Amino acid sequence: MVSAVYTPSLTPSFSIPYSVITILSNALPLVVISFGFWDQYSDFLQSQKLENYQKNVVEEYDFIIVGGGSAGCVISNRLSSNPKYKVLLLENGGNPNPMQSVPVYFQSVLHIPSVDYDFYTVPQKNACLALKDQRSFWPRGKGLGGSSNLNAMFWQRSNQHDYDKWAELSGTDDWKFDNILRNFKNIEDYHGRYYNEKWHSKGKGGIYVSTVSDNKLRKEFFEAGKEMGYPTEDVNGHQNPSFSGLDTSIKDGRRFGTYPGFLEPILSRTNLNIYRYAHVTKVHLHKVTKRAYGVTYKRHGVVHFVRAKREIVISAGSLNTPQLLMLSGIGPKAHLESLRINCLIDLPVGKNLQDHIGAFVGPFIVDIPGTTNVISRDFTTNTLTDYFSQHKGFMSMPPGANAVAYIHSSLSKQRGNITNKSPDIQLLLIPSTSITLTEIFEKFTNIKNGLIKKYASGLRGNDSFLINVMLGKYYSRGEVRLASADPLDKPILDPKYFSHPDDVKIFVDGME
Ligand SMILES: Cc1cc2nc3c(=O)[nH]c(=O)nc-3n(C[C@H](O)[C@H](O)[C@H](O)COP(=O)(O)OP(=O)(O)OC[C@H]3O[C@@H](n4cnc5c(N)ncnc54)[C@H](O)[C@@H]3O)c2cc1C
Repeated sequence: MVSAVYTPSLTPSFSIPYSVITILSNALPLVVISFGFWDQYSDFLQSQKLENYQKNVVEEYDFIIVGGGSAGCVISNRLSSNPKYKVLLLENGGNPNPMQSVPVYFQSVLHIPSVDYDFYTVPQKNACLALKDQRSFWPRGKGLGGSSNLNAMFWQRSNQHDYDKWAELSGTDDWKFDNILRNFKNIEDYHGRYYNEKWHSKGKGGIYVSTVSDNKLRKEFFEAGKEMGYPTEDVNGHQNPSFSGLDTSIKDGRRFGTYPGFLEPILSRTNLNIYRYAHVTKVHLHKVTKRAYGVTYKRHGVVHFVRAKREIVISAGSLNTPQLLMLSGIGPKAHLESLRINCLIDLPVGKNLQDHIGAFVGPFIVDIPGTTNVISRDFTTNTLTDYFSQHKGFMSMPPGANAVAYIHSSLSKQRGNITNKSPDIQLLLIPSTSITLTEIFEKFTNIKNGLIKKYASGLRGNDSFLINVMLGKYYSRGEVRLASADPLDKPILDPKYFSHPDDVKIFVDGME
């Protein structure tokens, strides 16, 4: 088992004041932005080379993959593993930004256009009351690696029952958990705490999975779970109601997303072309057969068309994929026609949008010093030297959470037969460290100015934690719509949080 256990240096060290940490965090975006400019400019120069700039030739590939994010990197790897196939990957962003690889920077490097689409929902009627304009901030990763470059790094599979349900709905056994499990094992290089060859695989490449270090707080959390009758076990196994330590996609103190996992190792394949800064604006469909045969994309200001002999895979993420489909004439007829887009295939694209709404309960102050990390006490000059010399310590851990529980709500119990259904409440154990950096946290969550300061007052210097209660299953359904026919306009996102009354009941139950 590999874990990021924090064994601080023994050399004398000095606490770093909150104000200095805040200044340093505010300076981080400048470093990210500078790298972005440099990366885009060097890509532009490279694209001007004669062999990459055949103006009047229509390129043709067996497969075109749109979006080099979490899914796109894996698909590019798998499809190009057959040297007979010529594969093109088109990605709107650039190379992953080195600052994103430092786990503790998770919240500080969001909102930056070169790495994040920086989406917001429309104002929510029944939720987000503490957020500016009642709009929820939805970060989405841009660049090779996509959202795996900016996510919270928790390694979590969904529940077996959910996949079995997909199999039932789609009428194909391919989606059954026992079949999906093979793929889960194929994409991970598991070095976490719960190794068991039935559930996990290691040594064959893929996403490197490790474990967040043990701390006292987590032990207490597990004890509380046991008192409530829940075992402590691997949530990535059959995921019965249980409490569990979190595994993370972190290797040697650095984020390990799909770019290092799947794309970086195959950059030298000659049958795979990767065009960065290539924004796909349209998928072309054959007028009669409605089969997709090519895409238009814009790269460094120049519009290109490329043809696919076999297939086009759209892996542009859960928001940009429906946007691109609708821009291409695949979507709800009335909506497309209202924007003067010719509807080629009338489908409910953009409907059924689901999001896991969550809220913090706490903070709870713990009277045993050392139970959690406290910035004013534990973030010292040694924290910096430990990280930059050995990739260890505070900075190598995700600030989000370090343990998780999945439980059933009383509503789900009332409905009976709970053993056949996946748990509907997720509880994340979160040290309060990140909310004590109030400015950064406010920006991260889009919370109204001043609220977090009030909420977190009294926490600084204290060991404390929060529980993030999340709906593991939700009944509210929202939608993604186009704002206009312009591919550069952000889509309209409306999750319609709490529009279903059961979500409120389950949520309150989770909080209780
Ligand atoms: C803040 C945050 C925290 C999260 N935390 C976790 C977590 O801890 N654990 C977990 O399992 N999941 C987490 N997730 C979810 C997880 O990261 C995503 O579900 C997953 O990365 C989505 O993969 P994807 O391939 O569908 O999309 P993405 O990884 O988002 O990739 C889409 C790619 O397509 C590109 N693209 C989009 N439009 C176009 C276009 N028109 N032309 C060309 N390219 C385009 C984008 O630039 C991007 O690179 C989190 C997500 C977020 C946003």
